[in-house]
Amino acid sequence: MKNAGLRLLRYVSDAAESMLALLMPWRCLICSAVLPSDTLWHYLCQQCFDRLQPAPPPPVLGSIADEHLDPDERALSHVMARWSAHPTQRPGLFDLIYALKYYGYWRIGVELGIELGAAIHLLRGRDYDAIIPVPIHPARRRERGYNQSEAIAEGVQHILRIPRWTDALRRTRYTQSQTTLSAADRRTNTRGAFGAGTMADRLRGAQLLIVDDVFTTGSTLNSVALAALEHGAASVDAATLVAAVQ
Ligand SMILES: [Zn+2]
Repeated sequence: MKNAGLRLLRYVSDAAESMLALLMPWRCLICSAVLPSDTLWHYLCQQCFDRLQPAPPPPVLGSIADEHLDPDERALSHVMARWSAHPTQRPGLFDLIYALKYYGYWRIGVELGIELGAAIHLLRGRDYDAIIPVPIHPARRRERGYNQSEAIAEGVQHILRIPRWTDALRRTRYTQSQTTLSAADRRTNTRGAFGAGTMADRLRGAQLLIVDDVFTTGSTLNSVALAALEHGAASVDAATLVAAVQ
């Protein structure tokens, strides 16, 4: 019933979006330019897209994660990101992330997720059994109405054509926002914050891809990976839209 309600809500919001598009043109959320009617991304113009900085290659992200993680707890085998940016660079990519996270722009997540999916395909070219969006706590979902990582995972799924598992793991603790925390505090903040979901059985032997919006120190992604390995996953890679490393 809850899902049917959500589907209806998505349908109504998609229909409202289409009607709105007839009345006023789409604008780029970064530079405010009016987007052409055959726009590829509905919130981003071609010029701003071309100006986005590609993320450092996976080994560089992996070594950033190594710096911040306890070596005994390293659970991620591979870390990928599509772009790099810093939260203080405005206007920019973080405005899109902000709109996705706090203003309900689900479609931004899907469109950027499609770009991320294409990058993962090039970088890894391997098969995963499933995509796992980083779970949010039920209380946070009630506040926000949705999990932005699921929107990104939906985009990645368009390219990789593998299942998206949202019930295999769950967030067991309501954690403080990470943005103002030091690397050490981020580690403590997310340690043990994830556990088995109702469908945790399917993790056994699975090769997984965890998806999230931003990579900073990798501690959240690593905590999700630890929980997946504890429940029998064979390997865990992670991919984010942005690496906040500039
Ligand atoms: Zn623009």
